[in-house]
Amino acid sequence: MSANSPVDDAAANDTDTDGRDQSDAGASADDSTDLLEVDGVVKQFGGLVAVDGVSFGVEEASITGLIGPNGAGKSTLFDCITGVYEPDGGAVRLDGEPIHGRSPTEIARRGVGRTFQTPKTFRGMTVRENMAFAAERQTGERALGALFRPGTVGEEEADVQARVDETLEFLELDHLADDYAGGLSGGQRKLLELGRVLMLDPEIIMLDEPIAGVNPSLTDELLARLRELNDRGRTILFIEHDMDVVMENCDRVVVMHNGQTLASGPPSIVRDDERVVEAYLGGYD
Ligand code: ADP
Ligand code: MG
Repeated sequence: MSANSPVDDAAANDTDTDGRDQSDAGASADDSTDLLEVDGVVKQFGGLVAVDGVSFGVEEASITGLIGPNGAGKSTLFDCITGVYEPDGGAVRLDGEPIHGRSPTEIARRGVGRTFQTPKTFRGMTVRENMAFAAERQTGERALGALFRPGTVGEEEADVQARVDETLEFLELDHLADDYAGGLSGGQRKLLELGRVLMLDPEIIMLDEPIAGVNPSLTDELLARLRELNDRGRTILFIEHDMDVVMENCDRVVVMHNGQTLASGPPSIVRDDERVVEAYLGGYD
C-alpha cells in the first residue's frame, strides 16, 4: 500500500521533465505522437503483482493490439488506464497529461472510452435508451452551462437523439433500436457497448476482447466498424486473443506476459519474436 496523493503526483509529473528523457539518444527522441502513454505501471493485489512495470505508447490514429495469455494482466492494465484502479506505481498520460489516479468518470470525460470483457449494457432498457443513457452524464455536464443559457437543454436532447440514430445506423443496429438489450445476442450486445462508448465521442477507444464469443459474421462486422472508425482518425487499443485478427487489423502489437511487456512493435516482427512464440503461442498446447 504505497501509492498516495495521486493528484499531487499527477500535478508534479506534469511539470517535471522525466518523461522526455527516456528514449535512447537519437532515434525516437522526437517521436512524441503517442496519444496514450503507459509508463512503468504497477498494480498489485496483495502479494500478486498483476501488472509489473508495463510501458508502451499508443500512437495517435493507430490500431494497437494488446495480447498475452490469460492472467497476463491485460484487463488489470485497462483498469489502471481507465481509473477503475489507481496504479501502485508508474504513470498514464493522455495527450501528455497525467490521468492516473483520476476517477473513471474524469478519465472518460477526458476522452478515454472503454468497453468491458463482459458488456455492461442495461438489459431492461431498449437499445436506444441504453445509447441515450450513455450520453446523459456528458449532457448533464453541459446542462450546467444551460443554467446560464436557458433553452439549450431541449436542443441538446434532440442532438443526443440524432447522434443515437446516426451511431445505431453506423453499427447496423438501427433495426433493433426499440428492442430490449436483454434480448440481443452476445455479439449484438458488444456492438451496443461500442455504440455507448461512441456516444461519448472518445479520443481513444479501448476494447477488452471485443470479439470473444461473438459469431463469425458479427465478428467481421465489428472489426470492419473498428477499421472504419480508425480510418476516420480514431485511435483504438484492443485486447485480443486471436493472433490472426491482431495481424490483420493492428498497426502495432504489445505482448504482455506475467504482468510485464514481453515485446512490442509491428505485428510481423512481434509474431516472429522467439520469446513471444515460446511464451504466448506455445502456451496453447
Ligand atoms: P488478463 O486480462 O490478461 O487475462 P487479468 O488482468 O484479468 O489478466 O489478471 C491478471 C492477474 O491478476 C491474474 O493472476 C488474476 O487472477 C489477478 N487478478 C485480477 N483481478 C484481481 C482482483 N480483483 N483481485 C485479485 N487478483 C486479481
Ligand atoms: Mg482479461
